[in-house]
Amino acid sequence: MDKTVETIAGDTPGLTYSFPVYRFAGRRRGAPRAYLQAALHGDELPGTVALDRLMERLRQADAEGRIAGPITVVPAANPIGRSQELFGAAQGRFHLGTRTNFNRDFPLLSKPDIDLLPVPEIPESADQRLKRRLLELSIGADIVLDLHCDDEGLPYLYAPSALWPAMSDCAAALGVEAVVLWDGPGGGAFEEAAIHPYLQSAAAGAGLERRVVTTVEYRGVLDVDAELASRDGEGLYRLLAGRGVVDDPQIGPAGAYAKPVVPIGHVEMVATPVAGAVLYAAKPGDQVAAGELLATVVHAPGEPDGRLEIRAPQAGFVLTRRSVRVLPAGANLLKLAGVARSADARSGVLED
Ligand SMILES: [Zn+2]
Repeated sequence: MDKTVETIAGDTPGLTYSFPVYRFAGRRRGAPRAYLQAALHGDELPGTVALDRLMERLRQADAEGRIAGPITVVPAANPIGRSQELFGAAQGRFHLGTRTNFNRDFPLLSKPDIDLLPVPEIPESADQRLKRRLLELSIGADIVLDLHCDDEGLPYLYAPSALWPAMSDCAAALGVEAVVLWDGPGGGAFEEAAIHPYLQSAAAGAGLERRVVTTVEYRGVLDVDAELASRDGEGLYRLLAGRGVVDDPQIGPAGAYAKPVVPIGHVEMVATPVAGAVLYAAKPGDQVAAGELLATVVHAPGEPDGRLEIRAPQAGFVLTRRSVRVLPAGANLLKLAGVARSADARSGVLED
């Protein structure tokens, strides 16, 4: 295993960010290449601790000569976002300098060739330099995993529909409870940038069946837990073994994936029209009928009509909900994976 430290220049004198990159050399020509990163949103750490567990397995496989394809692991991909501690709270989703989501505005290349990365006409900001470098590190990999988490949620994949069902072994190996399939422009999310070059040349045979590109949502931001980390690290190892990146005769086929697969247009982003205290009546994983109570928002406490009931717009199951219980008007309360297309269907991405 080889460790290097990447440095990203900050936007002010004297400021530099750094993050380690671990590389395992592949020993078999033609074996698939894998790239795994976590915490692109700087404070989402379930994937980071899963990679910590995976690395132990990979070091052992390396010592035993069982790494078949090259593997790059970036356990903490965003030192900029991680550094944004404000008033006791981590702010790892948006870059404070540009107000841009760290998982948007990645360059979309027409071919998987880093020489095609545009030369910046004006000096880039630190978050743009970071995105450029992460894309460079991942380009050319057959398996690209971007490990995130939601507020509170089920473990689920967010994957390009062009790779489904060829990628269902990934969902089975990782043991996720749902898969959301997206189409259309995704605002330059990392995952979109990773698959975009291959979708451009799909007609010419881009080997899509060979690719795994997905955002893994490892439950909620508080699900940083030793037992879950071990389970998720083992799931990642199972995927790498199943796809022939690691040789391990102990790991059998992933088996069929039998959990829900939901088109992005079926996901209801249920919002509250009023500000208030949120009393949830449903949690991630709950099946609900159309019209069933999801939450009560207490917007005028003490008044007879001071409570607003928010009900399910259609039948489905709760995919995620917020981790806070105080929300402003218009804020999303939860994601409901519906059985039918939403009247407010989205494509590409679900939220800012
Ligand atoms: Zn995220």
